[in-house]
Amino acid sequence: MPKQAAKQDTEPYYGQCQCGAVKFCITPPTSFCSHCHCYYCQQSHGAAFVTWVGSYEDKVDIQVSTNAKVQWYQSSEFSQRGFCSNCGSRMFFKSSMCLGELHVARALIAGDIDRQPEQHDFYDQNPKWSIAKDHLPAVMTTDEALARYKQIPNGK
Ligand SMILES: [Zn+2]
Ligand SMILES: [Zn+2]
Repeated sequence: MPKQAAKQDTEPYYGQCQCGAVKFCITPPTSFCSHCHCYYCQQSHGAAFVTWVGSYEDKVDIQVSTNAKVQWYQSSEFSQRGFCSNCGSRMFFKSSMCLGELHVARALIAGDIDRQPEQHDFYDQNPKWSIAKDHLPAVMTTDEALARYKQIPNGK
């Protein structure tokens, strides 16, 4: 099935936090892009869902200015969420369940990347006051979503 690709080149993707103290550069290709509706994302970002782009720790170059750092919060037994210590922008996700991967908040990446969002994950946890109406498939259960993460080829 053909993928709807917005950008096919090998140019890196750039992004930053709200204050600009934390900048990053992602080397394509990315591994996925999806809307995550899980409770952890809701609480962490103060939002109905978070759109994540899958990449890898060795493909994301993070540069931090002297007045800030990437602070990691242990958001669950398995996972950590990285945010700018200066402005609080929630930027990154990593987990012992997908070692080596680094997920980046899509909204912080400037411009187009090599893919559009592909689906809604953990849609069973979606808050009732936010309804996603689009053509994308909704993966309902936690087990299904975790199984999908495990299918993602491990980089390189
Ligand atoms: Zn910042
Ligand atoms: Zn989530």
